[in-house]
Amino acid sequence: MQFSENALKVLEKRYLTKDETGKAIETVDEMFRRVASHIAKADHIYNPDANLQELEEQFYQMMTNLEFLPNSPTLMNAGRDLGQLSACFVLPVEDTMEGIFDAIKNAAIIHKSGGGTGFSFSRLRAKGATVASTGGVASGPISFMKVFNAATEAVKQGGTRRGANMGILRVDHPDILDFIRCKENNEEVTNFNISVGITESFMEAVETDVQYPLIDPKTGESVGKLNAREVFKQIVHMAWTNGEPGIIFIDRLNRDNPTPQLGSIESTNPCGEQPLLPYESCNLGSINLLQMLKQEGEKSYIDYEKLENRVKLAVHFLDNVIDINNYPLKEIEEMTKSTRKIGLGIMGFADMLITLGVPYNSEEGVKLGEELMRFIDEKSKEASIKLAKERGVFPSFPGSMHEKRGVRLRNATTTTIAPTGTISIIAGTSSGIEPLFALSYFRNVMDNDKLIETHPIFEKIARAEGFYTKEIMEKVASHGSVEGISEIPEKYRQIFVTAHDVSPYWHIRMQAAFQNHVDNAVSKTINFPYEAREEDVHQAYRLAHQWGCKGITIYRDGSREGQVLNIGTLD
Ligand code: ADP
Repeated sequence: MQFSENALKVLEKRYLTKDETGKAIETVDEMFRRVASHIAKADHIYNPDANLQELEEQFYQMMTNLEFLPNSPTLMNAGRDLGQLSACFVLPVEDTMEGIFDAIKNAAIIHKSGGGTGFSFSRLRAKGATVASTGGVASGPISFMKVFNAATEAVKQGGTRRGANMGILRVDHPDILDFIRCKENNEEVTNFNISVGITESFMEAVETDVQYPLIDPKTGESVGKLNAREVFKQIVHMAWTNGEPGIIFIDRLNRDNPTPQLGSIESTNPCGEQPLLPYESCNLGSINLLQMLKQEGEKSYIDYEKLENRVKLAVHFLDNVIDINNYPLKEIEEMTKSTRKIGLGIMGFADMLITLGVPYNSEEGVKLGEELMRFIDEKSKEASIKLAKERGVFPSFPGSMHEKRGVRLRNATTTTIAPTGTISIIAGTSSGIEPLFALSYFRNVMDNDKLIETHPIFEKIARAEGFYTKEIMEKVASHGSVEGISEIPEKYRQIFVTAHDVSPYWHIRMQAAFQNHVDNAVSKTINFPYEAREEDVHQAYRLAHQWGCKGITIYRDGSREGQVLNIGTLD
């Protein structure tokens, strides 16, 4: 397998085993071997005669061929001392001093091992409420979030990754207005993504333009009222200003909670794609769609046979991870093993569409996304049903939604669309279900030389079709898009769209299409041009609700300072 320069850099920096001097002591190949052999071992728990070598080989091939990659912690830690393999955790935050600081300690342990944590702060009493034991007043959820943030900052230095958190507050919490504004200053709570937990009754109050009650988390009693439209407007305003808060539809997460008998869902993991119960964790993995294509003559097709085979093997892999995982806490181990959630998703969707010649922002593109995900979801369930026959249903199956439907599964959930931020770099493909970010861009090299980097599929087609010239590529790079560049044939201008060319309407259509066939949620950014109005963001939020999304995250181009990659700038 060929790895890009970027992929090798990432692998060397974070994934390969190193000696005390920081020198890598394994090759990329050995890393995949380490992971494959470790994960295969779980089969012996169920069948002492299982052929581990054959399974290890299958896992190894699937990873080295870049057809499937597990989430980063599995690649980093499998077969090593730390042994913590999951990317997603949710921890409870109880309304006591002990509870709050327990959560901070537990989060620090998780961050150290490369996992991300989500919290709901909705149970904390409001700012100004009394503290019975001291007679003082409570400082409220936002002040405690700052403590969580500082702890994450400190752990950053020594951990495997920076550490990431999700903070959620229900829209009916008395401190909601402070929460909506808590990231107004970009220096505050930087290690958190924040989302407002929106209820269905709140959405109705927005529609009918009425007031809604604020609820005291301790007593469950109404302690005030706010105008729903005003609050919604404030959320939209802050999101328009700098991309946060996002929103999650908390009642929807609970409508789809497969194990309501164990409790309700209060939060998701940091990037929003994985709703979990308190103390639950989940491991993710993604199929690289670019490797699921076959060519007949000039044309490419999806190889559904290969896809089915890899989906089933991936479910086996992810189910094994649950048994072989080294959990940071006893409570997490118990909870995770009782529901056995896994999150299989995809990456390289945009690259696949381009290869098939289908525009992302089209009915055809959305239909293909939906069909593909329906197939993956269905095959993942077949694999989980088969595992249930061999290994038993997940322990909390009695009383679950699956029991009511009469479907005996090994895993309470099987599908999630992750961002695949780093594993897509390793695989050299577009991330998750996102459109391409850029086709051609300038990179600074020494002596002020400007190097043009071009998307490999774009370059290949441009060369084959005769429109690859330095001038045209420079034009694309400074324009940030192929739109309106007449030297490029219309057909390719439609196919090679980037996130900025795709209107919010199509971004949300695509998110909703995938959500229809995903148990958990979908990681997706809805991009807006800089000129977008607050009303446009408002409309997007309404569409996401109407079309069945579980949440929405928007970003208006250029709105946040220090944007990572600037298109069109020559320096
Ligand atoms: P990867 O590509 O590295 O496997 P993703 O970008 O798909 O990871 O993110 C999946 C999940 O991994 C996130 O939602 C979050 O729970 C966790 N995660 C991602 N980045 C970090 C980080 N820097 N620190 C802690 N957890 C993270």
